[in-house]
Amino acid sequence: MIKVERTKCPSELTEDIKQALTQEYKTSKKNVWNVDYIKNALLEMSNNKCIFCECKLGEESKYIEVEHFYPKSLYPDEVIEWTNLLPICKRCNVKKLDHDTKKEPIINPTVNDPKNHLRMINYRFVGKDQIGKDTVSILALNDSKRLILPRATIGNEIAELLEDLSDLVNEYSQKENLSRKEINKITGKLENLLDSCQCYSEYSATCAYALFGDDNYYLVKEFFISKGLWDPNLQNLEKTAIVNWLEGTVEKVQ
Ligand SMILES: [Zn+2]
Repeated sequence: MIKVERTKCPSELTEDIKQALTQEYKTSKKNVWNVDYIKNALLEMSNNKCIFCECKLGEESKYIEVEHFYPKSLYPDEVIEWTNLLPICKRCNVKKLDHDTKKEPIINPTVNDPKNHLRMINYRFVGKDQIGKDTVSILALNDSKRLILPRATIGNEIAELLEDLSDLVNEYSQKENLSRKEINKITGKLENLLDSCQCYSEYSATCAYALFGDDNYYLVKEFFISKGLWDPNLQNLEKTAIVNWLEGTVEKVQ
């Protein structure tokens, strides 16, 4: 789970339309939110991911479901309120159902930064406070088959890629000068690793946990700095990746 910036309300959803649709929902219970301009705007906001578990939507039959953060059954006036709508997967929707988030709050990633409430240990989310704990239990974020397994698989892939890169860097550290081909090879590998932690990548919080929690990353980074290869592009990629790490920024990566 990562912090997501709430985008602007779609222009189609005017005050008049909102009022009409809210009324329609109250009388007919119709799925008034189930329109393309809302679903597309929500998908764009989250980079086509479930706002909670970060699985990619639209793949492997994981279609977007429009989530009402404050449940529509309890708060019908907010049924079409843009700030109450979130893109989520079926699994998370089934878990959350009509849980009353006003009485027992959970993390809303467009409002709260998950790193203030959650950390990751062994690919499991652990609540740092009550909101974090409630988020983990209500959304069953440590569902082993559907969530822990993909997280561990992706984390292991990152550890292996990082180990390969670290071996290569060790080998290159014996050389006085690196060829352009060698520089491009290690830079490309590091860029790919940092790319997996960006907000648009699936399970970016998990990737950031695997990358920034691994000592090899800091050895590799040190090598890049010592060779004058830690360029603005890499610096920027690290900056936009590290915000998705639940541990946040620590001294050694500044
Ligand atoms: Zn989900």
